[in-house]
Amino acid sequence: MAKWAAAHRWKGLWPLIIVLCACLSMSTAAAEERIVPSVSYVKDSNAEYIFEQVMALPEQAWTSLGTDSISFGYDTSPFWFRIDIPAGTGDRLLQIEYPLIDDVRLYYVTPEQAPVHYAMGDRLPFPERPILANSFVTKIPFDHAHTAFLRVETTSSVRVPLYIWQDSSFYASQGPLSVAVGLYFGVLICMVVYNLFGYVVTRETSFFSYSVYVVFTGLLMSALSGVGFRYLWPEFIWLQERAIVLFGGFAFVFATLFITQLLNLRKNGPNWHRGLVILGIVAGIIAVASMLLPYSLTIRMLLAFAVIACSYVMVLGAAMWLRGMMYAQIFMLAWFTFLVSIIFNALGYLGILDGQFIQRYAIMIGSGIEVLLLSWVVTLMYSEERTQKLEAQDSALRHALEAQAAQRELNEALEARVAERTAELEQVTARLKLANIELERKSHEDGLTRLFNRRYFDERLLQEFSESEQRGQPLSVIMVDIDNFKALNDTYGHMIGDDVLVAFAKRLQETASRVHDFVCRYGGEEFVVVLPGTDADAAHKVAERLRTAIRSEPFQSAAGPLKVTASFGVATHTATSPKASGQDLLDAADKALYRAKSQGRDQVVQMLASDE
Ligand code: GH3
Ligand code: MG
Ligand code: MG
Repeated sequence: MAKWAAAHRWKGLWPLIIVLCACLSMSTAAAEERIVPSVSYVKDSNAEYIFEQVMALPEQAWTSLGTDSISFGYDTSPFWFRIDIPAGTGDRLLQIEYPLIDDVRLYYVTPEQAPVHYAMGDRLPFPERPILANSFVTKIPFDHAHTAFLRVETTSSVRVPLYIWQDSSFYASQGPLSVAVGLYFGVLICMVVYNLFGYVVTRETSFFSYSVYVVFTGLLMSALSGVGFRYLWPEFIWLQERAIVLFGGFAFVFATLFITQLLNLRKNGPNWHRGLVILGIVAGIIAVASMLLPYSLTIRMLLAFAVIACSYVMVLGAAMWLRGMMYAQIFMLAWFTFLVSIIFNALGYLGILDGQFIQRYAIMIGSGIEVLLLSWVVTLMYSEERTQKLEAQDSALRHALEAQAAQRELNEALEARVAERTAELEQVTARLKLANIELERKSHEDGLTRLFNRRYFDERLLQEFSESEQRGQPLSVIMVDIDNFKALNDTYGHMIGDDVLVAFAKRLQETASRVHDFVCRYGGEEFVVVLPGTDADAAHKVAERLRTAIRSEPFQSAAGPLKVTASFGVATHTATSPKASGQDLLDAADKALYRAKSQGRDQVVQMLASDE
């Protein structure tokens, strides 16, 4: 897109060239039909002459002028011109083809009649002109050859191009000229409207500041051509006196704004930008000064400034071009055109350069071309900027998508990691739980026989006792002690003794196997069997069954089968028992065991309530 625009950028010149050719052909068409009268002048350096005195001046006081482009540069002295009007027929007109003269007095003199007097100039409202034209035009009152005296006094450039016209051909000549001038302002208005649309649609501020710049350029040109005074501010003499500097100053203020935005100078050339800001401020000061200081001073300031400023902007354009901004070529060309026209114009104003056409129309043509070229650059720049923006958006979107994908991957990896860790943690927790259970079991267990240990028994007995009390159920305990175990140890050794203890415990456990029954190792070769919900008779039966189970079969050991017996003390707590504790119950069982031992061992002794 940008490449296409670069390759075709000069094609936009065609419409411009066509418009230009049309303007040129129209503005030169009528030039042949006018007559240049012979003129001589006197400079009234002290501003002392009145009309009668001038008429009486001797011939040698007058200096004759051979050309139509009478120009004295900036001179505030009044000038008197003596114009030889040849004889002629029909309605004839005398034209001073320069619209910016402050004070014009014209006297047609003939010996036979009273002189005909006209007062014109910028200091009078436009409608008071004898003939309403952009320049100063009067009817020539006499047909025969006679003389006209013209007094001109102005703060601007003293330029007095004089022409005699046949009434009809003057008006005919105004047609194409009006069309050309109208075309020029038409183009300017189109540019303003078009770029305002551009601003409204795109919000691109360079469109707006460009429009304002063109508005001021247009106002400046309308002042220069007399169109402004004729149509825009015919009664506003204060403005007419200052219009050129005022509008010129503001045009450049907005030009600096628009150039800054167009070339993005803040970024692309901060130093160039600073220079431009200074020029903008100076332009603003000149515009304000135009309202306070005399025109003859401020117009010189503006002209000098315009030459400097346009040169600066042109060099700036070249710098931007060298930095690779390809549209800066067109930008440069635009300002070059304007600069050249301003220089021509300035030289004309200062009286250095002759040539009516250049003086009058160069600046219009120059500014017209400049305005068109700049509008073209604004559009090109905008389109390129938009392309760049779209590309930037594309790449931003791509990056965002990539970042999103990366983020998603990272999230997934993180989630997987968390899940892994959670699983590990759950495993550890489960193992810990098992270890805890094992630890608890071990703390309740006897290391050798794997039965409950004494500590557990103590806790459990308390619990069972209070529960049986609450339920009103009986609770029995059997204390068991292996008979003559010391002797067994002594005979076979402790290792064998241990084996017997383990086998003994196992047999007790297998025999007392009801759900609620439990067997503990009380210490050494003593065991306790607790029987919840078991009354005295049933407990006795269990004890007998245990005794039989022990004695009926020898225990297998490394030393061969060993016959073992045990003694049993049984005690039972019932709801009818007197108030007692678990310990009392255990003591009772112990007492019964003692009795069983003392009565000869291998027997069951039951402690009954009556025994206590
Ligand atoms: P009684 O018939 O009067 O109960 O005689 P006894 O020899 O069984 O009684 P005593 O209280 O005099 O001896 C108990 C013995 O039990 C003493 C000790 O050597 C033995 N013993 C205690 N604990 C263990 C043990 O854990 N392993 C082994 N091998 N022997 C033990
Ligand atoms: Mg013992
Ligand atoms: Mg014993």
